[in-house]
Amino acid sequence: MSSPELRYTFQQLMELDACTRCGECVTWCPTFEAKSELDAITPLRKIETVRRFVRRERGLLARLFGAREPDPAALEGHSLGTYDCTLCGRCAIVCPVHIRTRDMWIAMRAELVDRGVYPPALDHLRQTLAAHYNISGDDNENRLIWSQNLPEIPAGVGGKTQAETVYFVGCVSSFYPQSYSIPQSLVKVMERAGVDYMTLGGKEWCCGFPLTIAGMGDATAEMARHNVEAVRRTGARQLVATCPSCYHTWKDEYPHLLGEPLGFEVLHATELLAQIVDRLTFKPLEETVTYHDPCDLGRTSGIYDAPRNVIRAIPGVNFVEMEHHHEYSLCCGGGGDVEMADKELSAAVGKNRIAQAAAVEAKYLLSACQQCVRTLAGAARQEKVRVRTMDLVEFVARQMEE
Ligand code: SF4
Ligand code: SF4
Repeated sequence: MSSPELRYTFQQLMELDACTRCGECVTWCPTFEAKSELDAITPLRKIETVRRFVRRERGLLARLFGAREPDPAALEGHSLGTYDCTLCGRCAIVCPVHIRTRDMWIAMRAELVDRGVYPPALDHLRQTLAAHYNISGDDNENRLIWSQNLPEIPAGVGGKTQAETVYFVGCVSSFYPQSYSIPQSLVKVMERAGVDYMTLGGKEWCCGFPLTIAGMGDATAEMARHNVEAVRRTGARQLVATCPSCYHTWKDEYPHLLGEPLGFEVLHATELLAQIVDRLTFKPLEETVTYHDPCDLGRTSGIYDAPRNVIRAIPGVNFVEMEHHHEYSLCCGGGGDVEMADKELSAAVGKNRIAQAAAVEAKYLLSACQQCVRTLAGAARQEKVRVRTMDLVEFVARQMEE
């Protein structure tokens, strides 16, 4: 086996060396908390391992005496640890030398893909996306199937070719019935607020995020080009996404992949809600409500206030924070493709988050991500915690006055 192309930037090579081994990241890592028997899972160990690989293959001694490829058992262990990470980014927040760990973990995954040491389920994901342009493997022309049981299908859903706002629905909300209520709710809210919107139907392709975080991001550029072109044709001035990972991909990754600005603004649904909430009237709700920051919306994208402002706009709500919130928020366990690599680990992290919601006696646990809602609802069921989990757009649609 020859050494693959180096996947780390110059800055990342410096960061590998900058780690002081303080262990702060280990203390805050939710997957290590849930699976402490696997040392390879810790941020500290992943950095040490890769630093060793790089030195042996490309360092000074490698140049003098010949490169030594990583031992297969070491690679296998490193792969287990690297894919047992939700990419929550908590380790980056606490790292005293500011190592951009989330990007580092994705680079490590890309290297593992190059070496052929990664979870087999990811091959299925790659093939499905290449053949169907969505993660479910359904016919992509069925992207609007979630709208079929709306009382009336509005023109914005499949009936327009031009609009001010394009709603990018995302694969999970498009194809997985337990998330259909998220696009249904956003459409209801946008109709009520008079937003001129449209969807792309079968012209919407997966944003590419699942491949990027799998370490297979080389295929994401094609998706970016297709999706951006589809939105440009509508003349839209903004795009809104309910999925934080789609949002992050559009806002931060696409301009970089395309090498140019998109030409329209990218909003997360919580930002749109915060802009239009004054146009809506609500039924009061005298209940305790808490909010779970999705990792890709909070830590990755810095959006913390918009969802909280919307919740506080509902009369009667007693809003409380859980023990960990904002940039220290605990992950739900559903990110980073971990469910594909280790379902039990994903559930164990979700269980810890549900315990925090139970501790503040929340009756409603809101989030702003279909994956967080799904994972937390599963954990609540498993733990028999009586809390209603829902996406903020579902909550707003439910509380709107008829
Ligand atoms: S990103 Fe999250 S799960 Fe992954 S190593 Fe860092 S703290 Fe742990
Ligand atoms: S917190 Fe940063 S410096 Fe400390 S061990 Fe983790 S990665 Fe290294």
